Amino acid sequence: MIKELRIPRTELDLIQAELQANKPYEACGVLIGTIDGMIAHVEKALSIRNVKRTHRSFELDPKEHYNAWNEAEKNGKEIVGVYHTHPVSSAVPSLWDRETMQNDTSVWLIAGADGMRAYVWENGLKTVKIIEV
Ligand SMILES: [Zn+2]
Repeated sequence: MIKELRIPRTELDLIQAELQANKPYEACGVLIGTIDGMIAHVEKALSIRNVKRTHRSFELDPKEHYNAWNEAEKNGKEIVGVYHTHPVSSAVPSLWDRETMQNDTSVWLIAGADGMRAYVWENGLKTVKIIEV
């Protein structure tokens, strides 16, 4: 299970900018990098179109998601997590988020109106520590 998410300041800034730019809708994307034991090392946050574009949910554009996966693979990286924004609520998974997380082993980074938090689902919701690198 992933316990730490190491992510550069530049990528956190990028996610924060996405939150502001898409307000009041949710923005989303993937975190590309490598996994080393319990640590996910993020190298890049890549924005992906939210095909739902609502205030309360998101869905990654399947084609862009596939392209991101393909590109990561080609460079020997992987998609270590997914990020999305909660522009008008806190960085706590919604009911929909929780249900979706149960079928996804990757890290979920949520940028809320009150800051960023990261989670994984492993027999329940677990917090992942965000470490700025
Ligand atoms: Zn959410």
